[in-house]
Formats: sequence, C-alpha cells, structure tokens
Amino acid sequence: MQLFAIVVLLLILARAITELWLSRLNQRHVRAHWNEVPPAFHGVIDEAPYRRSIDYTLAKSRLGDVAGMFDTLLLIAVLFSGVLPWAFGRFKANFGTSIWAMASFLVVTGIALSVLALPFAWYAQFKLEERFGFNTTTMKTWMVDHVKGFLLALVLGYPLLALVLKLIEWTGANWWLWAATVVIAFQLLLLLVAPAIIMPLFNKFTPLPEGTLRKHLFALAQRTNFPTRSIDVMDSSKRSRHSNAFFTGFGRFRKIVLFDTLIAQLTDPELESVLAHEIGHYKKRHVLRLLGISIAGVVVAFAAIAWLARRQWFYRAFGFEYHAGFAAANIVPTMLLFALLAGTISFWFSPLLHIWSRRFEYEADAFAHMITGEAQPLIQALRKLSEKNLSNLTPHPIYSAFYYSHPTLLERERALRRKT
Ligand SMILES: [Zn+2]
Repeated sequence: MQLFAIVVLLLILARAITELWLSRLNQRHVRAHWNEVPPAFHGVIDEAPYRRSIDYTLAKSRLGDVAGMFDTLLLIAVLFSGVLPWAFGRFKANFGTSIWAMASFLVVTGIALSVLALPFAWYAQFKLEERFGFNTTTMKTWMVDHVKGFLLALVLGYPLLALVLKLIEWTGANWWLWAATVVIAFQLLLLLVAPAIIMPLFNKFTPLPEGTLRKHLFALAQRTNFPTRSIDVMDSSKRSRHSNAFFTGFGRFRKIVLFDTLIAQLTDPELESVLAHEIGHYKKRHVLRLLGISIAGVVVAFAAIAWLARRQWFYRAFGFEYHAGFAAANIVPTMLLFALLAGTISFWFSPLLHIWSRRFEYEADAFAHMITGEAQPLIQALRKLSEKNLSNLTPHPIYSAFYYSHPTLLERERALRRKT
C-alpha cells in the first residue's frame, strides 16, 4: 500500500472514531437526565413527553452509529478492494471512452452506492419513525419517492455531467473554471424552477385558505417588505408528522410554504412568529450568504479535482492507471474519488459552518421578536415544536457544538428573553 493510501485510510478511521465517540458522549449525557426533567425545563415539558424525547434521541443515535459504521466499512471496501478501477476498465472495454460512456460510469457507480444505503433509510422510516408515531408514509409512497428521486438525478445529472466532461475537451487546462461556472448556473436555475417544477412532483401545494391567518401572514410579508405571491400549505402529513416552514424561489417566483402539520400544531400568533423568523433569514441576508458559500464550494471542488487529476499518485494510490494524452480518462476517476473522500475532509470543517449557522438563527429570532413586538409567541412555538418533534433538549455541549445547525431550545429562549 502506498503511503498516501495509508494516510487516507487513517483519515477515514479518524472521522469514524470521532463520530462514534461524540455519539457515545451524547448518549451518556442524555441518559443521565432520564430520571427527572431538569429544573430548566420545569413548566416547559411534562415528564412523559420528556422521557419519550430521550428514548427517541437514543434510538436515532444508535441507528446512526450502525449506519455510520456501515458507511465507513463500505467506503474502505470500495476504495481499497480495487473494485472501482476494475469497473472502470470493464466500462471502457464495453462502451468505449466517449463522453457519454464516462458520464454513465459515474452515474451508475453513484446509483449503485446510494442503493446500498437504502436499507438504512427504510429502517429509519418504517421501524424507528414508526415506533415513535412519526411515520405516515406507506411503502408505496416511499418506493415511488425513491424512484422519482433516481429518475430526477438521471434526467438532470447525466446531461450536466456529460457537459462538464465535454468542457474538458473544449476548453483545455482551464476546464474546471468553465465546469464550475456551468454547474453554478445550473444550480441557480434549479433553485428558480424547483418550486414550480420539482417540488410538485413530490407534494401537493394548495394556497392557504382565506381567513384571518392568511390576512395576518400577508400583512406580515408586506410590513417586512418581503414580497411574496403565495403562501402555500404543503401536504407533508402524507409522509411524516414532523413539522416545518420554509420559503423557496427568488423574486417573483418566491413562495412561502407551511407544512400542514405545522398549521395543525401552532396557534395563529405562533405561526406568525415562525414566519417572521423565516423572513428574518432573508432580510439579514443569510440566504444570500449561504448561497455564496455553496458557490465557493463548487469552485473549490472543481479546482481541487483539476489539481488532483494532474497528480498521478492520487488516483494510482487507489489502483487507477494513468492515461497519457487523454485528460478525461484521468479526470473521471479523480471526480469519483473526490466525491467519495470529500466528506472525510469536510467533516472537520462542519463545526465552523455550524457556528455560523447558529448565529444566523439567533439573528432571525431577534428579527422575529422585533417585527412582532413580542418574544412570547416565538418561545411558545419553539417549545411546542421541540415537544412535538421530540427534539433532544439536553444534548452534550460538545456534541451540539459540533453538529447542531440550530441553538438548543434553552439557548434560544435565553437569547430571546435577554432582548426583552
Ligand atoms: Zn431558522
């Protein structure tokens, strides 16, 4: 084994061990509170739902441990068994080295790997979520969802991949800049049309019925100068009892979406405060900044792929041969290896992103507080959502610092009260 391959193996193991350690740390911490509701939550949550939230947290965490170990073993097997160069060789022998054949290789490998993860997704939905009363999906809906997802990836991803590979031929050494530009343009287009074309493939959207709620929410949008054409209700109860709200699209395509489960759980003032929070994300330019990060991520990824594709030691460490004078044949294996290994590196940076994201949440909460003039409805909404979704109220501080994109309920309440 080459030195580089050993380094990669150690990095994969380091991540897996860290994940397992964090998970165990959190499980112990949560279990320690099982006996009674901590004083900070007296009057917030009753004992029965509190215990249930602990059981749910532990069950999810254990399943995550098993799935994580499976992923690690699969990644090691795929990378070091030689199956990838073998499959690449078979592909070239049978289908040639055209752009379409190369793109097919990437697509087929990607689909094969994601199919292997399906049993865990099935178990999570029909065993775990079912046990805690969240699942409302039928087997048929679940299967159709996945088939639709694969077809969508095929219809959108395959031509895009072929175009990116074509750019290598057309533009030479600077191909990665062109490729990044094309992919970013494609992502922006997708963001624009997704609410109209893609999301309706999975859910039904109906305008929020006339009434005081609708009047209040539109008034809020007007007051905050957040032009929206429609406020829609999504039939998310078709799949799960978990609840949420979001907005999608840009400019005149913008659409505010409330889960039907959210409307069922919250009162009108609480819903208004949740929507004010979402508008806060927009007004404070969080959406724009996250988009900026994702664009920068695409550029960095393509720059890294282009750089690595010129380093023979990189793909040779995993058994791929060097092809003289045929750039795409070196770039395609590099792309695949990059996709497989990106998480091993980005894992260590995710806490930084989460620090940022948690700051955004505080800012959006403060915005909602300012716009609605009171903190209580938002606090009440957050409490209800925590309880209904059986959120972990007492995560280990290191665990939440590492993984949580949102502050905990207690942290958000404290920040909201400080402002009053
Ligand atoms: Zn938020």
